[in-house]
Amino acid sequence: MQAVLFPAPETIAIERVPDPACAPDEVIVQVARCGICGTDVHIYRNEYMSAFPLIPGHEFGGVIVEVGKEVTGFQVGQRVAVDPNLYCGHCDMCRNEMANHCLNWQGVGITRGGGFAEYVAAPARACYHLPDSLDDMQAAFVEPLACVVHAMKRIRVLPADPVLILGAGPMGLLLVQALRRMGASHIAVVEKQAPRLELARRMGASLAVAPGQEQDEQLKAVAPRGFGVVIDATGVPAVIEGAFRFLRPRGTYLQFGVAPNHAKVNVSPYDIFRNDWMIIGTFALCYTFLPAIDWLASGAIDIAPLVSHTVPMADFADLFGQFAAGKTLKVHIQIGDAA
Ligand SMILES: [Zn+2]
Ligand SMILES: [Zn+2]
Repeated sequence: MQAVLFPAPETIAIERVPDPACAPDEVIVQVARCGICGTDVHIYRNEYMSAFPLIPGHEFGGVIVEVGKEVTGFQVGQRVAVDPNLYCGHCDMCRNEMANHCLNWQGVGITRGGGFAEYVAAPARACYHLPDSLDDMQAAFVEPLACVVHAMKRIRVLPADPVLILGAGPMGLLLVQALRRMGASHIAVVEKQAPRLELARRMGASLAVAPGQEQDEQLKAVAPRGFGVVIDATGVPAVIEGAFRFLRPRGTYLQFGVAPNHAKVNVSPYDIFRNDWMIIGTFALCYTFLPAIDWLASGAIDIAPLVSHTVPMADFADLFGQFAAGKTLKVHIQIGDAA
């Protein structure tokens, strides 16, 4: 089969590789499309837990073309999305509702072959049936949206809380829509790129501003007592450090963006104490594929405007570079026939 390969750090190849073998508890999925994610950039730069060579890609859906002999509940021809997080199911974390911290965690496209390929092997337990109403573009958004659903389960949004989101990349724009559904009142977005500000307004932000001199005044006008929830969706340490000044007493700060793993920020422990603040992290997802599929199928979350490029595998290296430089929104690699 044809696949995108990271043979070594900072290297991309498109090659013929052997088709994946189907273990007894697995299915083989013919990939329809697969999204490029910031995590793929971290993998490429060797800043993540992956070993090389690797076929990356963890945001994909497709059609089952082979079923392992122990598999029940799945048949050839069915469309599925694959949860790339493979939880063992028997460690102490899995057995205590913290499967995203599984002690034996494996990731499709992270520690084993992923979705930038014609075929992927995946355990049947990680596959989720897709309703016919979801197209391939939506199928490739189930995984990123499942991360947003996990984040929404981690925080508490009180009715009519004003919310501030820093960063309006594809994930920030999903967060805008999710927070609207969670009952927020004002949703303010700070973002450098003008086209993304426009998109944030379309997705439901009541205020979208570029960072700069008027930013604080405009945010204050929307939330004079500060924001009930402040979310970083940039992963940029300087942005994170500045985020706390917008948080009201009893407010919740959510670290959604992935910062470099060596980064440090200055936060005053006295301020945390004095303001009753909650500081919350959110890692990947944890059995949140079903609510993500339901949110997409119901039309509550609109992902089409978040995809700026859909290209064939041959264009992977070019678009990967543009994505890593922040010049695109979500990039989808079209692999199988369009559905
Ligand atoms: Zn991802
Ligand atoms: Zn486990």
